[in-house]
Amino acid sequence: MLQQTQVQTVIPYWNRWMATFPDVHALVAAPEDRVLKLWEGLGYYSRARNLHRAAARIVGSEAGRFPDTVESLLELPGIGRYTAGAIASIAFNKPAPILDGNVVRVLTRLLALRGDPRTRLPQEFLWARAQDLVTASEGRGDIRMPWGERLGDCSALNQSLMELGATVCLPKGARCEICPVQTRCRARAEGTQERYPETAPRQAPIQKVHAAVVVEQAGSMWVRQRPAGGVNAGFWEFPGLEIPDPVDSVRRHVAGWLGVPEDRLAPLPPIRHAITRYRIQLETFHATGIGLPDVVGSAGRWVDRQELEALAFTAAHRRIVRLLPKAGMPVA
Ligand code: SF4
Repeated sequence: MLQQTQVQTVIPYWNRWMATFPDVHALVAAPEDRVLKLWEGLGYYSRARNLHRAAARIVGSEAGRFPDTVESLLELPGIGRYTAGAIASIAFNKPAPILDGNVVRVLTRLLALRGDPRTRLPQEFLWARAQDLVTASEGRGDIRMPWGERLGDCSALNQSLMELGATVCLPKGARCEICPVQTRCRARAEGTQERYPETAPRQAPIQKVHAAVVVEQAGSMWVRQRPAGGVNAGFWEFPGLEIPDPVDSVRRHVAGWLGVPEDRLAPLPPIRHAITRYRIQLETFHATGIGLPDVVGSAGRWVDRQELEALAFTAAHRRIVRLLPKAGMPVA
């Protein structure tokens, strides 16, 4: 849950998840719809599907217990080198390296490492140094936290590296004066802290306009499920399309797509959201009295407002639900 997501955002999701799925068996027994519903709004939905699949793999495995080595962790769906290293070291105190954005910043500054750390050679070099550090920490004794918890040595080393990057070796304004490794830091000695890491600038975001239509009939709305294998697979959404650029009127374009008069589409406030590099403006319309246009397709179903609440929607389409006029109110 914490990949690409802040702790404050994750906490309520974590609490709900753990209350619903207290162990791996409970997760395996749940239908995918239920799993996605609990992840609704958290984004990067392949994480939820991978957790579900990984749980099934663990329960069905010969050992029937959570893997504790990098190699066996890497065999689980959705677990890459970083996550495998984090689990093996933090949870099982194995001398496995980790390399996330914070650790990369600390190490590139400590070593004054030139080159983009996202490219192969600098990255392999950093993995090797992260391995050296965690290997050297092994056998140095457990650390006791102020609140009494014992941390294994490898677990403590990796968590300290991440914490150092998150709280001291900041991207802008590194707090070198309180840094515990300041005397060993080459960037500090050279006064070049902010030059590292030498990451190439990100590509510019791409602007897009999409449209979604809530087709309502006798209190029910037409929704469809996103196909397997694509973006946001398994989530429900209102039908819609991408709007070509340029277009003189989004509403006219959508009316033409549906084959209905333009005045049957009541605009709702637009929604802005982002998916990876894309900055999407989602123009939304509420349509009543138009039946079910052919173009919307037969692969969907009518649901009333109660069912709408129970289905898993992506964050943008959940916001559309919140924008709908209350039942019984005039549409426009
Ligand atoms: Fe980062 Fe400064 Fe510490 Fe070097 S001395 S690791 S630049 S905080």
